[in-house]
Amino acid sequence: MKKKITIAIDGFSSTGKSTIAKLLAQKYNYIYVDTGAMYRAVSLFAKNNQLVGVNFFKKEELISRLSEITLSFKFNKKLGFAEMFLNNENVEDEIRTLEISQLVSKVATVSEVRKKLVAEQQLMGVNGGIVMDGRDIGSVVFPNADLKLFMTASADKRATRRYIELNDRGDKVNFEEILFNVQERDRIDSTREDSPLILTNDAVEFDNSNMGIDEQFDRICALVDNLIIS
Ligand code: C5P
Repeated sequence: MKKKITIAIDGFSSTGKSTIAKLLAQKYNYIYVDTGAMYRAVSLFAKNNQLVGVNFFKKEELISRLSEITLSFKFNKKLGFAEMFLNNENVEDEIRTLEISQLVSKVATVSEVRKKLVAEQQLMGVNGGIVMDGRDIGSVVFPNADLKLFMTASADKRATRRYIELNDRGDKVNFEEILFNVQERDRIDSTREDSPLILTNDAVEFDNSNMGIDEQFDRICALVDNLIIS
């Protein structure tokens, strides 16, 4: 029988982590967990309750209300992945806006938020057979993951990808604003005190500025195959 392994994918925003993670989950019949969606859902709760905005953050109040937040994923057969639910409401669309992208890194610096989400993520992975993407998966959530991947690409390439994605959804956004957001999130995510985004020395790094999805996926599948049949 093939071993069910744990795959951790970390890296900067818009580096194609979720695309690769979804493909891997499909191919190996693994669970896919998008942890960024969880931080985004907490940010949506904070925004809807006037606890965070571009110029303010009622951090202590958010901490005291964390018990009001229930997160769950429900698999959507049509889409082929699990959608994010906040207190039983499907928030998949709402959490992908530029507005939430502008708030989420601030919310993700809060240790109490991280503690709650990391505990839930670790529970989802107890049986292996999981591919999880985020910023601290290989460093904090699953430090013993069987395979750790770290994705990077130039800020310009990443902003272009995000710009196309948001435009396709019909969101009115401008490129400069997206580029600024990508760089600002890189800065906050890499310099925060609790669980910063780091390249661990046991991770395999992929710079996909000039590498297509197919080539990356083939290379990653070779790494996975090597682990599950050894
Ligand atoms: O992956 P995505 O870009 O949707 O993540 C949104 C934000 O959530 C990141 O910029 C980061 O601030 C935060 N995050 C995190 N830890 C994770 C996943 C996401 O801090 N494991």
